[in-house]
Amino acid sequence: MPELPEVETIRRGLLKYILNKKMVGVEVSCEKSWIGPLDFAAKVTELRRFGKALVIDFDNKKSLMIHLRMTGQMIWQGEERYAAGHPSENFTAELPNKQTRVILKFENGILFFNDQRKFGFIKVLDTEKVEEEPFIASLAKEPWQMTADELYEIVKRHKNSPIKAVILDQKNVAGLGNIYADESLYYAKVHPKTKAGKLSKREVRMILEGARKVMTASIESGGSTMATYVKADGTKGDYLEKFAEVFRREGKKCGRCGAEIVKIRVAGRGTHICPKCQKEK
Ligand SMILES: [Zn+2]
Repeated sequence: MPELPEVETIRRGLLKYILNKKMVGVEVSCEKSWIGPLDFAAKVTELRRFGKALVIDFDNKKSLMIHLRMTGQMIWQGEERYAAGHPSENFTAELPNKQTRVILKFENGILFFNDQRKFGFIKVLDTEKVEEEPFIASLAKEPWQMTADELYEIVKRHKNSPIKAVILDQKNVAGLGNIYADESLYYAKVHPKTKAGKLSKREVRMILEGARKVMTASIESGGSTMATYVKADGTKGDYLEKFAEVFRREGKKCGRCGAEIVKIRVAGRGTHICPKCQKEK
C-alpha cells in the first residue's frame, strides 16, 4: 500500500511533467474511480499533499483529490515515462490496460490512474473547499509537524495500548503506516507491544526522530517508483532495500547487534523487530 512517503514521491515526480500544463480531457472506465463532472479542462497551478491524499489544483478554481488506497498507481507517459505508487508490472506495461481506471489527458502527455483493486479514487473539489473535505479536515499532524512533547501527550492519553497501535492510528499521527511504524520503533529500540504509558519522554522523542529519519530516507530514495522497481540491469528491485532495517527482513541479521530479525503480530499487523535491541518492558 502506498504510504505517505510514496505519495510525496509521486507529488515531487509529477511536478516536473504537469505543473503549468493544461489538462485537456478525462476518460473514465470505472465509474467508482472518478467522482465529479467529466468535462474537465484547465491548467495545473499546484500539486499538494495532505496525509496520503494528493491534490492537484487547477486555474478553473477546481482541484482533483487523489486517493491511491491499496493498489493505486499514477503513471505519466509523455516523452518519457514516470511511474509511482503500488509497485507492479504496470510500471512498465503497455497502457491503458485492464487496470486503467481513469485517463487524464494533458497537452504534453497522458497521466494514467491504474488501480487493480478499485479502492482508490479521484474526486473533483472546489479548490477553496479542499481543506474542508472530511478526510483532510480530520487529519492529525504528520511526524514533521509535531513536537516530541505533543507526541508524548498523545502517547500518555493511550497508556494501556501497545505503542505500535498508538502510532499507527491515523487520528494520532498522520501518515505513519506499517513500514514506518516498525522502522521508527526499531530506531528507538522500543518493543512494539510496550504499553504506551510505560514509555519515557526520551523514548517517545526517539520514536518521532526515527519516523522523520526513515520517511525522509524513503522520499529521498525515490519511494516505490519505476526507477526503484526496475534496476539498471533489468532485474526487479525493492525500494525497501534502500532504507528498511527490519521491515520484511525476518531471518536476516540486525544491522546493530547481529541478532536475527523476527516477525511477530502486534495490533493485528505483521510486525518486524530485533528481539535483542527491542526488549519488551
Ligand atoms: Zn539488534
